[in-house]
Amino acid sequence: MQERYYKFSRFLKEKYGEKVWKIPVDAGLSCPNKDPITGTGGCVFCRNDSFSQMQSLQNISLAEQIEKAIAAARTRQGINKYLVYFQSSTNTFAPPEALSRYFNQALQSPGVVGLAIATRPDCLPPDVLHIISELAAKTDVWIELGLQSSHNTTLQKINRGHTFEAYLDAVEKLKKLPVRICTHIMIGLPGEERSHIIATADKIAATGTHEVKIHPLLVLKDTALEKMFINKDFSELELPDYVMLVCDFLERIPAGMVVQRLTAESPREMLIAPAWAEHKHLVLQAINAELIKRESRQGAHCSIK
Ligand code: SF4
Repeated sequence: MQERYYKFSRFLKEKYGEKVWKIPVDAGLSCPNKDPITGTGGCVFCRNDSFSQMQSLQNISLAEQIEKAIAAARTRQGINKYLVYFQSSTNTFAPPEALSRYFNQALQSPGVVGLAIATRPDCLPPDVLHIISELAAKTDVWIELGLQSSHNTTLQKINRGHTFEAYLDAVEKLKKLPVRICTHIMIGLPGEERSHIIATADKIAATGTHEVKIHPLLVLKDTALEKMFINKDFSELELPDYVMLVCDFLERIPAGMVVQRLTAESPREMLIAPAWAEHKHLVLQAINAELIKRESRQGAHCSIK
């Protein structure tokens, strides 16, 4: 079956000639938006332990996390190449020497072909960019920039603590380095309608960045978003609406932009809404079915190649 969007798995296969496994790790870092001095209390949806594997990684050394994941991927699936993904929190929020140590340590394991570093647009000072540049001379580097929305009113509502302009500034700085830039977007944010999603897709398309991750807004227990949800400050998206919006988004980004993710999961005991987010395969199937129904594909309404 012909793919209707450019999956990350296909990109990796084309680049490395075989299947590559992305290993999420928790380096135990914090986040400027949650920091007692610099922060504003964190994004309303944030619960760092909600990343699928993160709970089990806390209190395990970085080396051990990587070693265990590699052993499992090699034994169970016969995979020999890996990307180490610094996923939890803001992975450029630490003294540069410490970051350099973590990143270089991750490169020591046999089979590691690159690093993916998740961060915020406002956390890339010159000394950190220098470290990223040095890393990129040794290995393949992805910088994953959390943006969520291109609308500053939405960014304020979700307490991101940065603007869309800060994202554009980060992209311009990163484009000077030999790294791949992946933007994280959320669908279902408070106050956003189809027109907001379309505008965000158009703006991301225009940046010339390489990749995107899209996922639904998840309401998790013990977050500020849970209170907003209980107070009916916004309502959850139904699955058919999410599917339509994802397809609208895909149609408007370049066909060559790699799609790393189209949905998100969290541990069942933390998820309040939407319940359908538990069923990743059904969500992906529904997106594919909608693209087929539309006789459409990624880039269908985008003039940028
Ligand atoms: S930037 Fe990331 S880690 Fe920091 S508060 Fe927001 S979601 Fe949490």
